[in-house]
Amino acid sequence: MIDFNLKNDEMFYAKQFSEIIKFPTVTRSGSENFAAMREKYKELCPLVWKNCEFTLLPEDVVILKWKGKSSDKPLVLMGHQDVVPAVGGDWKYPPFSGVIEDGKIWGRGTGDDKNSVYITMRAAEELMEEGFVPEQDIYLSYSDSEEQFGDGVVNAKNWYLEHNIQPNLVIDEGGAMARASVAEKYLEKNIALLGCLEKGYADIKFIARSAGGHSSTPKKNNPFERIAKLITYCTKHKLFKRKVTKTMMLTIKGLADGAKKPYKGLLKQTWLIKALIKCIGPKISNMVDAMLKTTMVFTQSSGSAAPNVLPQEAYVIANLRLMPWDKKEDVIEKLTKIAAKFECEVEVISARDANPEIDTTTEQFKLYTDALKEIFKPMAIVPYVMTGGTDCRVMQTICPNAFRCEPCYFDFKQLAAMHAANESIDIDSICGGVKFFKYFMQIYK
Ligand SMILES: [Zn+2]
Repeated sequence: MIDFNLKNDEMFYAKQFSEIIKFPTVTRSGSENFAAMREKYKELCPLVWKNCEFTLLPEDVVILKWKGKSSDKPLVLMGHQDVVPAVGGDWKYPPFSGVIEDGKIWGRGTGDDKNSVYITMRAAEELMEEGFVPEQDIYLSYSDSEEQFGDGVVNAKNWYLEHNIQPNLVIDEGGAMARASVAEKYLEKNIALLGCLEKGYADIKFIARSAGGHSSTPKKNNPFERIAKLITYCTKHKLFKRKVTKTMMLTIKGLADGAKKPYKGLLKQTWLIKALIKCIGPKISNMVDAMLKTTMVFTQSSGSAAPNVLPQEAYVIANLRLMPWDKKEDVIEKLTKIAAKFECEVEVISARDANPEIDTTTEQFKLYTDALKEIFKPMAIVPYVMTGGTDCRVMQTICPNAFRCEPCYFDFKQLAAMHAANESIDIDSICGGVKFFKYFMQIYK
């Protein structure tokens, strides 16, 4: 008999989670706060720390192994302990105070991504209180530098490889869930957005050089003129092809499942919708456009050291998010050729390819999404193209069944507040998350 009911009242979870928010574990801000937060977790979830095998990897990566009856299908539940800084913005409550108000817990990390850490650890703690032993080994795997694409998760992945652990299913942040009530005109079911295609990433520096000199006697074709021409060229030309991916088609199918009439019927006209997305989508939404093609945007620049000095070297940096069909080598080659037209050089600061699309026909995918549908019914599963990045991209290299969705509800305001001011999560979203993982840990065999 599966029992996933919570053992405490809502305020119990709110208060515990609020304690965690009080640690300003900003990425790479030193280990002190991370260490203090671990101590707090030991207080809040003592059985987990007593019963699990604990590994600490540089610098503050935590892996807790809960030994199951079998080790052949390890389950890995991920989260990141670090947060982005909370400078600027008009915070209603101080960002690291963990205030509980209006049915919510407020503060940096409440939605991204301390909730994932808390709900997985708390679920394990409650099952341990009940004397449950999992069928398979479960790993609670918490990185420390996700917000800076740090190597915390790489250290974790290497640890799994070194210990010959082949995860069978991985769950991480990425997508999130929305209640039908956030768009009640359109939705009849709640929806779970599941990141099934994570785009690649590149930072490319374009450099233009000259002999420099005094700005009172400028020469033609100075570095910034060339860079300006280069930017204009890249912005005006369609450098990257748009394609409607398999994941995008699944987005439409999932939305059709969750939609009310008559939108449901409309979304089921997949060929029409596919054509509409390709033609109109990019014009009406930059988000849709980013889901169809590799994006490139100029984000940084620099010139000489003083206003009256001609630059010997000026540069501009472009940030790219790559689709799977745009391989990094090809993109770099293409941009190098373009740069040469304007007498600029290219320096690759970083580049990585997109992850392969997740196979949604596997038994692991079915197990996971059926569980979401069971706990949060009525629920429609909506796979989607992720334009941002997660740690999961690294774990996907050792486990193809790496799913990106936090089983927590957010509304539009809360989604917009991640990485901004007034981040918050509903108390019952935290409770729902604990409930989900209690259920999933029990059905996972
Ligand atoms: Zn995150």
